[in-house]
Amino acid sequence: MSDADLLFRPDLLAKYGANGPRYTSYPTALQFRDDFDPADYRRAAADPGASETDLSLYFHIPFCDTVCFYCGCNKVITKNRGRAKPYLQQMIREVALQARLFDTKRPVSQLHWGGGTPTFLSLDEMSALMAATREHFTLLPDDEGEYSIEIDPREATAQTVAHLRSLGFNRLSLGVQDFDPVVQKAVNRIQPLELTVDVMNAARANGFESISVDLIYGLPHQNVSTFRRTLETMLLLAPDRISVFGYAHMPHLFKMQRQMDETTLPPPAQRMALLQLVIEQLTDAGYVYIGMDHFALPTDELARAQVQRTLHRNFQGYSTRADCDLIGFGASAIGKVGDVYAQNAKDLTGYGAAIDAGELAIRKGVRLTADDRLRRDIITELMCNLELRYDEFEAAYGVRFPAAFAPELERLREFERDGLVARSADRLEVLPAGRMLVRNIAMVFDRYLGAQQRESFSRTI
Ligand code: SF4
Repeated sequence: MSDADLLFRPDLLAKYGANGPRYTSYPTALQFRDDFDPADYRRAAADPGASETDLSLYFHIPFCDTVCFYCGCNKVITKNRGRAKPYLQQMIREVALQARLFDTKRPVSQLHWGGGTPTFLSLDEMSALMAATREHFTLLPDDEGEYSIEIDPREATAQTVAHLRSLGFNRLSLGVQDFDPVVQKAVNRIQPLELTVDVMNAARANGFESISVDLIYGLPHQNVSTFRRTLETMLLLAPDRISVFGYAHMPHLFKMQRQMDETTLPPPAQRMALLQLVIEQLTDAGYVYIGMDHFALPTDELARAQVQRTLHRNFQGYSTRADCDLIGFGASAIGKVGDVYAQNAKDLTGYGAAIDAGELAIRKGVRLTADDRLRRDIITELMCNLELRYDEFEAAYGVRFPAAFAPELERLREFERDGLVARSADRLEVLPAGRMLVRNIAMVFDRYLGAQQRESFSRTI
């Protein structure tokens, strides 16, 4: 049996596929409270016990030149490049504000610019933001840190890529979605192949360590034969990582999605065929299925980390870095510091007003309980390392796992009968057929997830 046959079980995907969180955090952002006290965040930042932990910095740059109809990100669509200027000044001020709260000798082992479109900024603006970051925090020498940026190939040239490398970025993540011109037109993202190729070539020429590419299945007009061509083209380009997300059609939440003709969306059976195609093509080409939507070449650090059980998960997805304290900069950015999650104001006006007044822009957040911490670790272990070793939880939390989680383990009986998990006296293991449904397995351990909440999340398959 091939890897794809082991992973892809359409009967089980249809049975268990349901709406659910991606668990970039636990509890999820739905649990963040409006009455969160930013003093909790400040206390967590000042905790001397945290000085052994590295820092991770996330910068949210929300501007995009044109809208992609499928998009569910927090973004501002504008052709006016001048709009970035005041926002950039506010982010630079926020860097200084946040730096006062932390021991800034702590090494920054991860840094990420996401959006929106980070390269909406001019080269000089990018330099200014990175200079402010270096002034206030301890960035690592080149290639010791995991410093990544999301690139829209329509908004970047070879010169942009070289500039980013000179600023210290060493990983790129490219949005592609689909090479097919009919699909590109339907989603309002016209991106000729040459643009993607040019950026990838420039990244290689400039010594970027890892190139990651995003595709989406389930978009209008996609079918197996067109998407096969997209995948074949992508395989020729041989990125280190490929993420293939299932398009989440939620027009009640994202108005722009109403611009697409719903009748052109692939029906469920065709979506399943597209997913099967993805798994077959990528695993046959030698990519390792990491989990959720992510595939990586066996030489890539994510694939190696999974073998060594050192894979982690954060707001940007999978990572090889140990759990860091995460500081989020910019509108809607989320920080995770010790036992606290805190999210900045989502709108530019609210964010800017707070920063201009010399205050943090935190609007929501949550402080974890002991039970939250334990469940967060359980969910992370399942999502990253695909097993729970009970003795590790007993050592870390003093709980006798099978007794403490008897109801959850009971709920997993059916998953076990269907061959998604294997339970033994000392561990719970996710089997190959369960890997695509790992979110559904993790959901069993989520104590907040009610039926109503599920509707806020996209489908797991
Ligand atoms: S997909 Fe990216 S480029 Fe397109 S609108 Fe969303 S954030 Fe902007």
